[in-house]
Amino acid sequence: MKGSTHLAIGTAIGTAAAIYYPFSWKHAALYVAVSAFSALSADLDGPSLLSSKLGKLSKLLHELLVWTGGLLVSAVLILYAVYGIEHREWTVISVVLLLTGFIAKEGAIRNGLVSLVGCALIYSGWTSDRYWLIGLGLFIAIAPWLRHRGLTHTVWAACAWGYIGLGLEHELQLDGVAAVATAGYMSHLIADTLTPRGVKWLYPLWSKSFKLRL
Ligand SMILES: [Zn+2]
Repeated sequence: MKGSTHLAIGTAIGTAAAIYYPFSWKHAALYVAVSAFSALSADLDGPSLLSSKLGKLSKLLHELLVWTGGLLVSAVLILYAVYGIEHREWTVISVVLLLTGFIAKEGAIRNGLVSLVGCALIYSGWTSDRYWLIGLGLFIAIAPWLRHRGLTHTVWAACAWGYIGLGLEHELQLDGVAAVATAGYMSHLIADTLTPRGVKWLYPLWSKSFKLRL
């Protein structure tokens, strides 16, 4: 299912929460932000959510690696061939850069960038004793590397997300945040269940794909 559809459902859930709970603009914005992000986060395992800008950035980084590595290798070779000058460190650096450029796929660089954000959250959760933040960081750091519609599309992930939401609710001292986060996440799994590919709700215990045709 398309990211825009998940986003629309998530926004609707946040709006409903804003109306249901005592209203303030700040709280309304929080509900919508939490539910929209929750409705999208399960697809951190696929290129659909991480495409566009991040994809362009990783493409750029990839090309930068290959070109810098290639230029450096040429420079080192020319220096050696023409002037007989040997730069051991630069030889190692340039070859490593070039090889990394060849090995690392753009997708891997993109995933690495997302994981970096996750690691920053883990660190900040670790230093401030916020376990929910460590959980969120782990989710963001690991999800990009998982097979699409695998672990993130399960009841286990939904439970973990609920726990993260509960931590955020305590942090913000705002009723309903955990419920909104869980509802947003569940809405994603339910919406994907309505697609032909379905969702393996109990993966890896039971690899059956659940589908619902309307
Ligand atoms: Zn999905």
